[in-house]
Amino acid sequence: MNIQMTDLKEQYENIKSEIDAAIQKVINETSFILGQEVKLFEDDICKYFNSKYAVACASGTDALVLSLLALDIGHGDEVITTPFTFIATAEAISRVRAKPVFCDIEPDTFNIDPIQIEKKISSKTKAIIPVHLYGMPADMGKILSIAKSKNIKVIEDCAQSFGSEFDGKKTGIFGDCGTLSFFPAKTLGCFGDGGMVLAKDEKVAQKLQVLRNHGSAQRYFYSLHGFNSRLDTIQAAILRIKLKFIDQWIQQRINNADIYKNSLSGIVNIVVPVEKNGYKHTFNYYNLRVKSGRDLLEKKLKDNGIASAIYYPLSLHLQEVYKDLGYRLGDFPVSELAQEQVLALPMYPELTKEKILKITEVIK
Ligand SMILES: *Cc1c(COP(=O)(O)O)cnc(C)c1O
Repeated sequence: MNIQMTDLKEQYENIKSEIDAAIQKVINETSFILGQEVKLFEDDICKYFNSKYAVACASGTDALVLSLLALDIGHGDEVITTPFTFIATAEAISRVRAKPVFCDIEPDTFNIDPIQIEKKISSKTKAIIPVHLYGMPADMGKILSIAKSKNIKVIEDCAQSFGSEFDGKKTGIFGDCGTLSFFPAKTLGCFGDGGMVLAKDEKVAQKLQVLRNHGSAQRYFYSLHGFNSRLDTIQAAILRIKLKFIDQWIQQRINNADIYKNSLSGIVNIVVPVEKNGYKHTFNYYNLRVKSGRDLLEKKLKDNGIASAIYYPLSLHLQEVYKDLGYRLGDFPVSELAQEQVLALPMYPELTKEKILKITEVIK
C-alpha cells in the first residue's frame, strides 16, 4: 500500500463531469482573462466568508504582496511575522522592500505568540502578518487588540486556513486584509496557481483591483505601478464548483483528524494537534510534534510506503536569504525546537479510516 500526503486525483474523479463542463464553458466563451466567472467567484467568496470585498489574483504570494501595497506598506517599514511559516509570508514583505521582523511562536499552536509581539513593535512597525498555520487559527483576539492600540495594520495569511474559524468567524475577515491561496495542495485548491485578497475597506479593495491589473482602473490609463496578477477565468470556474463541496471536505478532514487522535493518544513521545475552545482547525495539514526520533519515524513510514513531510525544516530567521537581518541560532527557541520535531502525516478528505489506522499502526 502506498499512501501519499494528498490525493488530488480521487477528488477530481468524484466531480469530473461538473469540472469538465465548467472548463469547457470557459473555453467556448473564450473569456480567459477576468471573465465573468472571476467576478462570480469573488461574490461567492464574499458570501462564504461574510467579507465585504474579495479581489482575486494570481497566487497566495501575490495576495500578500498586493495587500501590503494596498495598505501603503513599503520601503523603510517593518512588518512583524512568524519565522515558522512558508517562505512566501516573509518573501512578500521583502518584495515590497519592507523589513520582516520575526516574533517567536506558541509551542502548542505553532502560531505567532501574541505575548511577544509587543516587544517587537517600533516606530517603523506598520503591520502584523499572523499565519494560521496548518489550518489552526492564530489568536486573533489578542493580535487585533495589540494592533488597534498601536494603530498598525493586520494582514492574515490564510493560505492554510480556508474555512477555519476563530470565535465563530472565518479567518480572513479579522484583519484589514486576509489572503487566500488556491495552490493545488491547499484545502481549496485549483488546477494551477491562484489567490485572493479579502478586504474590509472599499478604497483598499479598489486599489487591489487596480494593482492586480497593471495599475489600471480604465483601460490604457495607469495610475499606479501595478502587476499582471489575475486569477484565470478557468481557475475561477473550477473553484466555483469546488467551493460547493468545501464544507463537506473540511468535515471529512476533521473526522480524519479525530481518527488519528484517537489512535495516537497515549503515545508519550507524540503530541497531536492542540484543540482549543473557540478555535476551528481545518487540518490543511495534520501535524504531529515528535519529541524524539522524528527522523527515524519519518524513515520507518517511508519504508512502509507512507509519505510524511516536514513543514518546515528551517525557520525563516536562519535562512540564507535573511542572513543580512542578523538573526542567530537561539533567537527563537520555540520555532527552532519545532523545526526539529514537526512531522505532517497524510491528510485529505478522501483518506480512508483503513489507511489512517495502517499509518498509526506503523507509528506505534
Ligand atoms: C502556500 C502558502 C503561501 C503562498 O501561496 P501560493 O499560492 O503558493 O503563492 C503563503 N503563505 C503560506 C503560509 C502558505 O502555506
